Amino acid sequence: MNSWNYEVFWKEMLNQIKNSISKEEFSMWFNNISYCSSEENTIVLSVPSNFFMDQVKQRYLPLIKETMGELSGDKINISFTVTKKNIKEENSKQNNIEEIKKHPDLREDYSFKTFVIGENNSFAANAAISISKNPGSNYNPFLIYGGVGLGKTHLLQAIGHAVHENSDGKRKIVFITAENFTNEFITSLQKNKPHTFKNKYRSLDLLLIDDIHFFQNKEGLQEELFHTFNALYGAKKQMVFTCDRPVSELKNITDRMKSRFEMGLNMELNPPAFETRLAILKNKVESLETPIADDILELMAQNITSNVRDLESALKKLIAYTELVNKKITKEIAQKQLIDSFTTSKQGNISVDLIQKKVAEYFNLSHVDLRGRKRTKAIAFPRQIAMYITRELTEYSTTEIGSDFGGRDHTTVIHGIQKIEGSLKSDPTMEATINNIIRSIKEQSSK
Ligand code: ADP
Ligand code: MG
Repeated sequence: MNSWNYEVFWKEMLNQIKNSISKEEFSMWFNNISYCSSEENTIVLSVPSNFFMDQVKQRYLPLIKETMGELSGDKINISFTVTKKNIKEENSKQNNIEEIKKHPDLREDYSFKTFVIGENNSFAANAAISISKNPGSNYNPFLIYGGVGLGKTHLLQAIGHAVHENSDGKRKIVFITAENFTNEFITSLQKNKPHTFKNKYRSLDLLLIDDIHFFQNKEGLQEELFHTFNALYGAKKQMVFTCDRPVSELKNITDRMKSRFEMGLNMELNPPAFETRLAILKNKVESLETPIADDILELMAQNITSNVRDLESALKKLIAYTELVNKKITKEIAQKQLIDSFTTSKQGNISVDLIQKKVAEYFNLSHVDLRGRKRTKAIAFPRQIAMYITRELTEYSTTEIGSDFGGRDHTTVIHGIQKIEGSLKSDPTMEATINNIIRSIKEQSSK
């Protein structure tokens, strides 16, 4: 035995960590890390993939280092090596997890394990993980908001999976879209069975409702939800919601419902940066039979910036093409095949700056004036058009738009947008004007 053998510390560390994190989390991550060897002041661990390694580093490296340091009394470096698992071992592991029956409302692939944590989502993801360990205790309700395709539904369901597995399938969990929740409620009224609905939802351990912006303008439903909310909240049962915008921007939702949505923890998901986009792609292709080269993944991550859903559909397109032609694809082929995805994505990611430039150009004003604080009519009107177009072409909230237009309040932005909506109705030339500007913005952004 050489003098650098840290295996015993590693084993002891596993024992300690086992007590400090959930069963599910432990089996997800630590059952897949094995001790490999020791070198001077370094322990080498083997992990099944690069993706897995990155995620373990993000989540646990400080904890591992600290615990190993305490146990050994030395500063120990952690180094990883990627060893592909043999299939037999993988299967037997999967069989173990299979013991608990899958929850019928949840998509199998929407778990924490497949969710890549990056700077855009780390607050929301870590809050989700923490809530799934102790549902109903802190942060009730938890609300995740953000634009399309950023992982709201995925995270919501991941909480469901984790709670389901941690409780060995014993907790009563419902995942439902706001739309289906509404339909179910209406059906229960039509069938004269409102109690069945009430009893079902008010006795849950965990209620997950996706896309609550759908509840806007639905008064009767909000009334019902209000009572469901109070019943669950009073019984310390966890609720998690998703929404496509901050709660403050919802319209036609009663104040008492809004304040309930806001009283726990609200977290935003932002579009992922390049590194995270690349990590997501790498994770997705890891299980493929025909791998896709890194330079192609980088090309995709560079060009598709809008959201994860667009990234995934581009990848699916490329995989379908590869299977069809049955040959290895080059960067040139990928570029050609994905040209549509690349341009739509860019259009989905138009900057406020570009909109301001194009509007200023159209009205022959200076860009600086348009985004500044001057209030003369000659500037105010084009500025309102620019705000309107920003709202049409981007995912920015009115608060964000306000800050990009001279630090204005979101109510000013809403007012400006409403004025343009008004003139679109009364002035027939308005639509053509706006369409012309939009066209020039899109042309510029897809170059
Ligand atoms: P939203 O509900 O916000 O519109 P979804 O949760 O449906 O978005 O996500 C769109 C797609 O992108 C899903 O297939 C989801 O699995 C994937 N996705 C989103 N974020 C991530 C992430 N951080 N890691 C892995 N996959 C992700
Ligand atoms: Mg969704």
